[in-house]
Amino acid sequence: MVHPKNLEDFDKMEKLFMNIGVKSWTVDVPCVTGRLKENVNFHLPPEQGGKYFKYGYGEGLHSGTKGYACGLHLIGIMSDGRVAKCTFYSDNPVGRIEDGLRKCWQRIRPVRLEELKCDCQYIELCRGGCRYRASLFGDPNGKDLYKCYYYDKIHCK
Ligand code: SF4
Repeated sequence: MVHPKNLEDFDKMEKLFMNIGVKSWTVDVPCVTGRLKENVNFHLPPEQGGKYFKYGYGEGLHSGTKGYACGLHLIGIMSDGRVAKCTFYSDNPVGRIEDGLRKCWQRIRPVRLEELKCDCQYIELCRGGCRYRASLFGDPNGKDLYKCYYYDKIHCK
């Protein structure tokens, strides 16, 4: 996770992980939710945080399938048994572990790229970024501005 106190560490981390044979490294900017909302010193604006998506390699946690937004293969199980699309959606669960994972999985609606209000040439690569982050910017089908800054500033306007 990228935050204002570790910005200088990414080059070193990249070298280290490659040297010791790490096969996959996911780098992300935290969504401003939960306790992070109260800790403004750890907030990074999109124009700053977005640059760090150049780090990370391999399949990664957010790998996906053509035509679909992030999360197609993900399901989040909270420690109290709630099941959600991913842990960011823990307040909007699709069920509980007692319902069975198959049932919960079937209740998760995949998001197709064509539903998004993204209008850029990078959509198949970016897949609209994080849907939860987009909703924090005001529209669950809108743009993830952190990703817009990574791919091309123009698309943030
Ligand atoms: S760069 Fe921005 S506009 Fe383009 S797909 Fe990603 S979130 Fe959508």
